[in-house]
Amino acid sequence: MKLNVKNIRYLGPDDWRVLTATEMGSRNHEVVPTPLISQIASLRGGGVQKSISNIAKIGLIAKVKNAKYDGYRLTYGGLDYLALHTHTKASTVYSVGNQIGVGKESDILVCASDTGKQLVLKIHRLGRISFRTVKANRDYLRNRQSGSWMYMSRLAALKEFEFMKALRREGFPVPEPIGQNRHTIVMSLVDAFPMRQISKVGDPSALYAELLALIVRLARYGLIHGDFNEFNILVEEKHEDDDKIILVPTIIDFPQMVSISHPNAEYYFDRDVACIKRFFDRRFGFTSDEPGPFFKESTKTVLKRLDVEVEASGFSKKMAKELDTYMKEHGVDGDAGAIEQEDESEEEDGGEQDAVENDALDADEPIIEDLATDTQTTPSALASQMTI
Ligand code: ADP
Ligand code: MG
Repeated sequence: MKLNVKNIRYLGPDDWRVLTATEMGSRNHEVVPTPLISQIASLRGGGVQKSISNIAKIGLIAKVKNAKYDGYRLTYGGLDYLALHTHTKASTVYSVGNQIGVGKESDILVCASDTGKQLVLKIHRLGRISFRTVKANRDYLRNRQSGSWMYMSRLAALKEFEFMKALRREGFPVPEPIGQNRHTIVMSLVDAFPMRQISKVGDPSALYAELLALIVRLARYGLIHGDFNEFNILVEEKHEDDDKIILVPTIIDFPQMVSISHPNAEYYFDRDVACIKRFFDRRFGFTSDEPGPFFKESTKTVLKRLDVEVEASGFSKKMAKELDTYMKEHGVDGDAGAIEQEDESEEEDGGEQDAVENDALDADEPIIEDLATDTQTTPSALASQMTI
């Protein structure tokens, strides 16, 4: 399910039309009947069959022989292409480069805008089979509702984007949200490594205090991160004028953000605090004598309810509930699962996630794939192709 953008430039307007038609048809049909694809795409002449075979060959749609009829379903690859195409039209993304992270439920790639600014593309992949949740997924796949992986991944992206916007507006240290489409978001690239990869800090107490203060500040804005750990905190080393090094954290990964009104809010708050305490103890041998922070104290003076604000924006209460239920049912537990596993095996370094990140970040030559249909095509020329 790795994103391969190589073929995107070979797709013609008819292919895009047929791909979009399949996506539209899959709102009501798990397997979209071929005549329906034809009807929605409404291409002149016999172009539909040719386009269907073009896009099926590169795995954007897959043929399914149903008991009643033959048809096609949109694949994750197809959805990726549609999202990228839209980002390209909106001029948020011009090219896609290395993969820098792979989680259980997402792929993270470096990409660039048409002005050459480096950005991050996060592709949500809820429903991806993970060895940790094989059983849950097996049941899930058997009972899968039409397009539910697509819908849930879209919800996760929407939620993450809305929260990133709200947090950024209030001055929280989060990436700059740039665009969202379908199951993807585009944000600024933070030039920093996850805290997990930092082995030494001069004085851990300042960073520790800052991170706990962030948990408290989030609560004062109505929110609990819910997955506040060393994978989701990027730490940048900044050199001050007097050569002092300060560590600047950026918080990422918001699909599991919970409101302070959530029935289990206190549990999530305490878990976030415990994650930081455990990491500082294990990694830097640092423990604080001060107890807390505590949920009740932190939420005594609430400054703003970003949880309520976000609900009133694009991400409704109903959507929040759907996503929450899905995540619980399918064992989507963010990075917490990975950390628990590691604790069991007493392993301090390594880990799959690190290996991927290191490899990608160490590569000298980024592999940049232009999304344009040919090397001479400008983004605006590409934009004019899509007529649906
Ligand atoms: P997941 O939901 O799979 O955990 P994350 O949003 O936490 O996805 O991203 C996974 C990894 O990708 C992070 O640990 C980090 O290394 C990298 N990453 C994600 N977003 C950014 C960003 N904006 N800038 C730099 N690195 C990022
Ligand atoms: Mg993460």
